Amino acid sequence: MARLVMKFGGTSVADLERIYNVARHVQREHAAGHEVAVVVSAMAGKTNELVGWVNAMPTVTGSNASIFDAREYDAIVASGEQVTSGLLAIALQSMGVDARSWQGWQIPVRTNNAHGAARIEEIDGSDIVERMGRGQVAVVAGFQGVGPDNRIATLGRGGSDTSAVALAAGVKADRCDIYTDVDGVYTTDPRVAPSAQRLDRISFEEMLEMASLGAKVLQVRSVEMAMIHGVRMFVRSSFDDPATIDSSDGANPPGTLICDEDEILEQQTVTGIAYAKDEAQISLRRVADKPGVAAAVFGPLSQAHVNVDMIVQNVSEDGSVTDMTFTVPEGDLEKALKTLDAARDDIGYEVAQSDPGMVKVSVVGIGMRSHAGVAATAFAALANKGINIRAITTSEIKISILIDADYAELAVRTLHSVYGLDKE
Ligand code: ADP
Ligand code: ASP
Ligand code: MG
Repeated sequence: MARLVMKFGGTSVADLERIYNVARHVQREHAAGHEVAVVVSAMAGKTNELVGWVNAMPTVTGSNASIFDAREYDAIVASGEQVTSGLLAIALQSMGVDARSWQGWQIPVRTNNAHGAARIEEIDGSDIVERMGRGQVAVVAGFQGVGPDNRIATLGRGGSDTSAVALAAGVKADRCDIYTDVDGVYTTDPRVAPSAQRLDRISFEEMLEMASLGAKVLQVRSVEMAMIHGVRMFVRSSFDDPATIDSSDGANPPGTLICDEDEILEQQTVTGIAYAKDEAQISLRRVADKPGVAAAVFGPLSQAHVNVDMIVQNVSEDGSVTDMTFTVPEGDLEKALKTLDAARDDIGYEVAQSDPGMVKVSVVGIGMRSHAGVAATAFAALANKGINIRAITTSEIKISILIDADYAELAVRTLHSVYGLDKE
């Protein structure tokens, strides 16, 4: 028999019927003799609503809209998971399953002090392990822990995935099943490309790239943590009828295993296409071409907590001035422009042009390490469709291309087909 962590996302617990369905999934594993701990998200839309309340409060009080106490933000937004953990425990009890809810601070899930985007530092799983051994199911509120200040800390959006992997590592689970509204990780977002195919397996490294380049099926940190602790993550659907699923050891339900590279027998050159919306481009024209200028641009931006992503600097024609283009999240554009304006004398640029509404489309595959020409294929395919490329960055296993948002879906589908990823 196995020790399992089962994680259910927002759409899977969106209403009472779905929570009941989740309880049936849990009961099925429990009845098969497995030791089970469950991690739940808030009901779909709940976290957005809570964040919306926090953001709206200053307009009521008339205070500065962008500044609020991050510890109170956490106290508010963590509440969605408290509700679902209690409801699922009640549903399980009604089925005769011994279950109880756990909030992050009760376990405790210890985090650092970065309220709103805290990192899990340690989970003491001993109490839960002991209770699982007696057949009790732990229903854990995801997305939350407790900081060194003894206050609730949340893990950043999508953080319940990370709660699940951390708990799996903390209780030494055999597997961490991520139940969601798709039946696995696909070659691209199936909502954008209906021709996307489910991957049976994907390496940790590729999944890390896919997630950090926009495939929000898993939170980036959850994959990072699974890789470090060797947790076997399996992405699967919560919408299958629990009565039809075989819960015995060795059963092979549909889904995607995130695993080591050497567990994948047939490695494709390109594994998937990811995209990230809401990027903005900034171009500084006629920047002095001299040592220290990049530091003068990116130092103040980093101090203002603006995350700069793609950077392109032209070679200047006459050695005196050059152009510098980079991207920032669209939501940070205003802050970035203000910061650059304040540092204008230090940097010495003529004009700052900006364009919101950009999308970064990325091609990911470990096979790129050993295959040439992958980038050229992408450029030719996009040119054929008349899609203009604004910036490019590459690494060993990915190519990212910045384009206008209007062409995002066309670009994703075009690249998906050109690398032979479309299902037959
Ligand atoms: P949950 O609420 O269960 O955490 P999410 O909404 O966070 O679920 O993640 C699941 C969604 O991720 C899917 O509905 C799908 O639209 C999206 N997604 C993006 N890229 C991919 C991909 N490559 N494979 C599968 N799903 C993807
Ligand atoms: N409820 C949180 C969110 O919406 C965490 C999660 O769902 O993983 O971001
Ligand atoms: Mg999610």
